[in-house]
Amino acid sequence: MQTQILGLVTPLMVLFFAATFAVFWRLGNLPRYVLGFALAYVFSAVGFLITHLAPEGAFYVFHTTQLFYSIASTLMVACVCERAGVRLHFGSFAAVYVLSAFALAVAVGLSDDVGPRLIIVNIGYGAMFLMGVTTLLSARRRSAIDALIVAIMVFQAADFLVRPVLTLLFERSIPAEVYRESIYYSLIGLVLGVKGVTTAMVLIGATIVDWTRILRGRSDTDVLTGLKNRGAFERTIRRLLPQAEVEGRRLSLVVADVDHFKQVNDIWGHQTGDTALSNFAALIGQMVRSCDTAGRVGGEEFCIAVWDCANGPAERLADRIRQAFARLQHEGLGEDIRLTASFGVATAREGETYDRLFSRADAALYRAKAKGRNRVENAEVRASEEPLAAPAPQAPMVKLA
Ligand code: GH3
Ligand code: MG
Ligand code: MG
Repeated sequence: MQTQILGLVTPLMVLFFAATFAVFWRLGNLPRYVLGFALAYVFSAVGFLITHLAPEGAFYVFHTTQLFYSIASTLMVACVCERAGVRLHFGSFAAVYVLSAFALAVAVGLSDDVGPRLIIVNIGYGAMFLMGVTTLLSARRRSAIDALIVAIMVFQAADFLVRPVLTLLFERSIPAEVYRESIYYSLIGLVLGVKGVTTAMVLIGATIVDWTRILRGRSDTDVLTGLKNRGAFERTIRRLLPQAEVEGRRLSLVVADVDHFKQVNDIWGHQTGDTALSNFAALIGQMVRSCDTAGRVGGEEFCIAVWDCANGPAERLADRIRQAFARLQHEGLGEDIRLTASFGVATAREGETYDRLFSRADAALYRAKAKGRNRVENAEVRASEEPLAAPAPQAPMVKLA
């Protein structure tokens, strides 16, 4: 009776972990690999329960439990790989599975001894976890928690490959009818318990790290445009300014403001205005490099931190965006109506703060507005250096009566 109750501890604990992952996944709206962890733990709990509760020596027990354990292992390995952004080679995985199943069938046919069967299935699991380790090592992300996951996978693989062989060297043979009295069986309860807890702890830790990262990402993102919001943009550029100085790179700032935007809302409605703003943001997103940072810093105001970019190229980038935006069609706006935007460009000086840099770029933007809009003004170019014949300013988009 006592052993019966003790034997239930592992599956119940594993079910508790499964529930933890499921709750995390649901509450945090987290990626599907978290649900995968929950399912992996459910499958292994079912395996444990069958091993423990089924009548001793029943023919189906070994095969059924191995089916559940192998689904659990596959899910676990596939999900840690998905989390790391790498793809497991399912072909090799299936090959290991088929090979183990075949070897197992042969072993069952040849002898009533459980030993060889245990070695075969455990080598199969070991190979699966080793494949997981090699796949994980090809991932780009290498934070402490990623390293810990690799370590736990190595621990899993080593246990599957070494423990059964060592135990069986000692125990020699285990007839199927007395499997539950074997040293192997008592040891496996303990080892699986320890492995289950340590693996779950590491994966729960990883899920919490991911959850925090996702929450931070969500709170840094502007919902309408998907660009960084003002706070996140400012945090980023304040970090980039000293970094640019240390690395000896130029950092330019482009500030853009949609022209006569109030009229868009007044004439075509707020929703059309929203569409135009997200179109502008998408255009900016397409036209900047991945090392640049774009953000929506106000209602219809956008900023781009152009990394490693001198003043001239930054001005040309702003002008390319200006021209592309002026050609863009917007859903809900008349077919022949186009919007425009004005731009200010400034390039960071030595020791310059973000507030100072922004105010110079903003002053240039203000000049662009004053000079008639739909143009780029450069804070680094003094009035005397400007071309005499500036491009003709564009008339307001719609003249109100
Ligand atoms: P200017 O050319 O001088 O920039 O004129 P403007 O009309 O664009 O400038 P103003 O600052 O007077 O108006 C900005 C408008 O942007 C006012 C506000 O209703 C609108 N706006 C701000 N945020 C949003 C938003 O999220 N969605 C929509 N549709 N409109 C917004
Ligand atoms: Mg405006
Ligand atoms: Mg504005």
